[in-house]
Amino acid sequence: MLSISQLSVTYADGTQALRDINLQLPGGMVGLLGPNGAGKSTLMRALACLQPPDQGQIQFAGINVLQQPQALRQQLGYLPQYFGVYPHMSCYALLLHMAILKGINNKADQKQQIEALLQLTNLSAVANKSVATFSGGMRQRFGIAQALLGNPRLLIMDEPTAGLDPAERERLHALLVHISQNKLILLSTHIVEDIENLCPFVALINQGQIVESGAVQSLLTPLQGRIWQSPLRPANAKTILSESYRFGLPLYRLLSSQQPCAEAVPAAATLQDRYFFELSHKAAAYVAA
Ligand code: ADP
Repeated sequence: MLSISQLSVTYADGTQALRDINLQLPGGMVGLLGPNGAGKSTLMRALACLQPPDQGQIQFAGINVLQQPQALRQQLGYLPQYFGVYPHMSCYALLLHMAILKGINNKADQKQQIEALLQLTNLSAVANKSVATFSGGMRQRFGIAQALLGNPRLLIMDEPTAGLDPAERERLHALLVHISQNKLILLSTHIVEDIENLCPFVALINQGQIVESGAVQSLLTPLQGRIWQSPLRPANAKTILSESYRFGLPLYRLLSSQQPCAEAVPAAATLQDRYFFELSHKAAAYVAA
């Protein structure tokens, strides 16, 4: 559905944020996972025609995005990471304003779409309240409502769960799953759990490059049977994929074809393991071994 080839972006100060990105994405929910500074927002902005690339091609559902940005905009919903300042306008009035900007000019159409989206995002009861007074979760739902105006086929969401409490996150997940049919929803985040919960397909990005992409299950296969968990640090530190804490106690995730220490028990591979595997630069050495 979305095809990106040889896409590179350099900022005015010389920072090369994206380097030769090649990516084929199917429809449905797709996760773009990478640490802060990896280039996720830059890629999202390039896809939304807000950041001109140095070179490359982007095709979406038959549209040559860089040559026909206007055609893409009609198919695009974009939830940026930062919305900037919220004006003191009611939620309804702001959605109406955005509907007009998106070219939805028919009054009956505007009313029907806005009312349906307010209901979908559970904002009908606060339609006449100023968006500036909304909580973080309500703002995110408002952001989704505005992104869905015009029923876009490409929905780009930059860190949509940032700042949400657990209940708000769950509600947002349910909403995204509900609307994901017949669309490509590209979800950028550094929260592995969001992607594990929502996305059958994922692309991992690091230092401006796509390091891996594919069905989540296929990314886990090479690690299955080689992941261990241990409360103690193993003598061979090379096997450590990640070190975290659970209930205040250390928990090591280890990568090894044999039991790395007496305390280690086998564990199922997770996307988090694959993420740390790629970030630790063990991938190349491991594949070569
Ligand atoms: P992410 O969204 O994954 O955190 P970004 O796309 O924001 O990453 O940033 C990728 C790289 O580009 C980083 O090194 C960042 O510092 C740099 N960068 C982002 N925006 C700009 C900008 N406007 N000017 C210069 N460098 C930028």
